[in-house]
Amino acid sequence: MARNAEDIWFAEKVRRAGFPDVPAFAAHFNLKPYRLAQIYRAAAKELADDVGSVTPLPKELRAQLADGGFTFDSVTPVLVQRSGDKQTSKGLFRLADGAEVEAVLMEHYGDRNTVCISSQAGCAFACAFCSTGQAGFTRNLDAGEIFDQARYFARELAAKNKRITNIVFMGMGEPFHNYDSVMDAVALLHDPHGLGLGHRHITISTVGLVDKIDSFADEHLQVNLAISLHAPNDEIRSAMMPVNRKFSLEEVLAACERYVDKTNRKIFFEYVMLQGVNDSEENARELAARMKGHLYHVNLIPYNTTPGASYAGTEQEKIWRFAGILEAAGVPVTVRQNMGRDIAAACGQLRADTQPKVLKEDARV
Ligand code: SAH
Repeated sequence: MARNAEDIWFAEKVRRAGFPDVPAFAAHFNLKPYRLAQIYRAAAKELADDVGSVTPLPKELRAQLADGGFTFDSVTPVLVQRSGDKQTSKGLFRLADGAEVEAVLMEHYGDRNTVCISSQAGCAFACAFCSTGQAGFTRNLDAGEIFDQARYFARELAAKNKRITNIVFMGMGEPFHNYDSVMDAVALLHDPHGLGLGHRHITISTVGLVDKIDSFADEHLQVNLAISLHAPNDEIRSAMMPVNRKFSLEEVLAACERYVDKTNRKIFFEYVMLQGVNDSEENARELAARMKGHLYHVNLIPYNTTPGASYAGTEQEKIWRFAGILEAAGVPVTVRQNMGRDIAAACGQLRADTQPKVLKEDARV
């Protein structure tokens, strides 16, 4: 059964404080439902750092809760870097058990503030071009740990009278490999009593786990789906994405068709441009043939060079030519631009579409 955001939020916090469930926690501190609502709202909407600063609560209650090990933040910033142009901030966060994840804030000129968050510490999928994938899997994040990355940047923005406008699950990890917690995190991000982010302003990016694409279609959420395609055929895709040996390109695209049929929502396909690997004109034509005639949008992503990687990025001019071939075939395409390159922003991989090519407003994520 779907839980509401307040229940999701409390479930983890009380477990960390050593209680089996919310009723046991509420009974222990003699908390009426309105008190629970006050606490939740202080964290989720007012972005309070900790229970000590929640002034509507009696002082002794605040002290009791704090002494009882009840804390708000499940992530602690260890390092926050800002790009030279101040548009991009990357945070490295430590979790209670010492695991670390990254999240990135991109403040686009104008009024778009996108936060890229991690759903897992590390990643199990080992895509050859991805630095997170190369480092292996540590563990799943719980919904609170995912939500708190957003809360951290929401607080930074609030100090400047700004707010998060978009969330992308494009940090570390594979969101569909941590499906339930990611769905819970979406509920937290969306809750009107909290951050209140519209579903259409949230994007989940996946390597293409077919069973989970089907489950996601059944959620009937307006959340955007992005598929990391990166190749026009199985030969190229399997060589850099081991997951393709489990779910072939054909199977992933069949799941995408089922998703569009069911939801009538557009799917975004991410395609990292790797020199000599997937960037020829023939590759573009093959990709166009697969994308054509569907409710699909291709995002071409310049490769973010990672230390020790054996890949090189395609040169910009060639990326535009590749885009031109897709465009000529009638496939909507955007060429993304790097942000925060000077701080290796976004988990060594994040991109933002600051330079749209063929772009309608709703294609922006
Ligand atoms: N596991 C999810 C989220 C990963 S990160 C997924 O695979 O979609 C979001 C995107 O960044 C993915 O498309 C991923 O393939 C891409 N990416 C990873 N490393 C990159 C790099 N070095 N340069 C550019 N994009 C990269």
